[in-house]
Amino acid sequence: MSAVWEQNVRRVVPYVAGEQPTDKNIIKLNTNENPYGPSPKVQELADHMDSDIFKKYPDQTAGDLVRALAKYHGFKPEEIFVGVGSDDVLAMCFMTFFNSDKEILFPNITYSFYPVWAEMLRIKYRTVPLDEQFNIRPEDYKAPNGGIIFPNPNAPTAILASREVVEDIIASNRDSIVIVDEAYIDFAEEGSSVIDLTRKYDNLIVVRTYSKSRSMAGLRIGYAIANEKLIKYINDVKYSYNSYTMNTPSIILGTASVEDDEYFKEKIEAIKKTREWFTEELKKLGFKVLPSSANFVFASPKTKTAAEVFEAAKQAGIYVRYFKAPLTKDFLRITIGLDEEMKKVVDFLKGFC
Ligand SMILES: *Cc1c(COP(=O)(O)O)cnc(C)c1O
Repeated sequence: MSAVWEQNVRRVVPYVAGEQPTDKNIIKLNTNENPYGPSPKVQELADHMDSDIFKKYPDQTAGDLVRALAKYHGFKPEEIFVGVGSDDVLAMCFMTFFNSDKEILFPNITYSFYPVWAEMLRIKYRTVPLDEQFNIRPEDYKAPNGGIIFPNPNAPTAILASREVVEDIIASNRDSIVIVDEAYIDFAEEGSSVIDLTRKYDNLIVVRTYSKSRSMAGLRIGYAIANEKLIKYINDVKYSYNSYTMNTPSIILGTASVEDDEYFKEKIEAIKKTREWFTEELKKLGFKVLPSSANFVFASPKTKTAAEVFEAAKQAGIYVRYFKAPLTKDFLRITIGLDEEMKKVVDFLKGFC
């Protein structure tokens, strides 16, 4: 017999993130972190951080960080919302904007946190199939809905939708909020982002993160860009939930990161170069590799099952990600690490596949 209060528990199936092993020798290619680390300017500031700054509550508005991001992207501070990683920003957006009786839409292969937030917040949703090449078809999003969200590039496919496709979806859905999750956009071709379209469409929110391209997953910084009105609505919800979201070190170090663009761009280029090399090596081994615009590849082995390669790689100290669902079970998601790490992966695969 279970207690009566059991009937009133909000039961959820939580999101499962990739493992964070403690063994330093593991080649960790399972959570799409950037292996190069943040700018040396961030290191310098961290080295000289005086613990006295921890005495006081942080700036609720994270003003320095918001202003630095606004300046970097050419927006007003009122057009930027910052949160504890983009997961927090996305959760706040779900809460703020997805309150219709109609279902929200997102692709059937996508970031697996979306259905978790929808369940948690009791938002109805419908997943929309990708085409055979794993592309988003804008026609499929021209249906009544309570909101739309998708990552661009998509995860875990790594495939980029063109600006035309993204704009088509935004323009055909002026009655609902469209969220474009640009977690990996810095690894895509220049000009792929739609942040500029937030000026043209009042129903668009673009979400970014420090966790992938800025190599600062541990600090938990994400942000949204949209028009002032939408940002105000998100802030109202945030201040009604937890006002002090951003901690002082995150504000200071997050600000320093955007101020060193040269380092940032250099490391992005290095990752893109490694990605091209690694993709060719996988193809030589017979893998099917989806065209990647991100810092990971989604690849399907030829001679062994993805599950077998996943397990054997793990035994060999190489962690990648495997999603056992019917649509993704033939693929592995492999983060692009350092050159020497990726060479070891290729050597391992040559021996195993
Ligand atoms: C990694 C990721 C996020 C979350 O990143 P944070 O670490 O919470 O900023 C959001 N969306 C997608 C598609 C991601 O891959």
